[in-house]
Amino acid sequence: MIIGLLLTNNGVENMERQITEFIINQAKLSIVQGDITKQNTDAIVNAANSSLMGGGGVDGAIHKAGGPTILKECQQIVARQGRLPAGKAVITKGGNLKAKHVIHTVGPIWRGGEKGESEILASAYRESLKLAMEYKFNSISFPSISTGAYSYPVDKASVIALKTVINTLRNSTDTIREVIFVLYNNQIFKAYTSALKELAKQQIS
Ligand code: ADP
Repeated sequence: MIIGLLLTNNGVENMERQITEFIINQAKLSIVQGDITKQNTDAIVNAANSSLMGGGGVDGAIHKAGGPTILKECQQIVARQGRLPAGKAVITKGGNLKAKHVIHTVGPIWRGGEKGESEILASAYRESLKLAMEYKFNSISFPSISTGAYSYPVDKASVIALKTVINTLRNSTDTIREVIFVLYNNQIFKAYTSALKELAKQQIS
């Protein structure tokens, strides 16, 4: 059951701004503006592409900060099981990152909304959380999957992302105690903040 929504702003210069927290069962969901490569949660999630060979956006940032061991493991995964379909997830070590693991998932490319995009996006979040639970992680950070190069409109993507995480946490008695959405740019951050406030209102009323 959801027991509360807190509004906070730590106001400390050069620190990530943390605005909203949402409590679900024994887990806390929060939204911060910042760089996911700096997070020290048990895992961070990468919005990868099916090749798993790195790319731009958050994918490029994670490989750059984590170093070559992540790419090497990704290559081994692709050699073993082929390209990663959209909506699925795999895990590697975190290399030089503070996070010990990276969960790589592939979101949908936005093609107008009638090509199963919403279900694939929800699946990318669900499959990532499933892996985190299998590994008994306590904490995980997500970027805003598909809202960069893959052009998913953020007003829609934010609702799907948050609802999927909330529903998964609500239905689980698992090890996960903290889920953080780490949003790089202000427009995306604002969209998630208002989506979470709206969802909180619906839950509470
Ligand atoms: P996709 O191909 O899934 O759209 P992108 O990496 O292009 O993936 O964009 C996904 C989101 O990741 C975008 O909202 C982008 O602003 C954000 N992003 C880019 N770099 C970082 C980072 N270092 N930390 C967190 N989010 C990031």
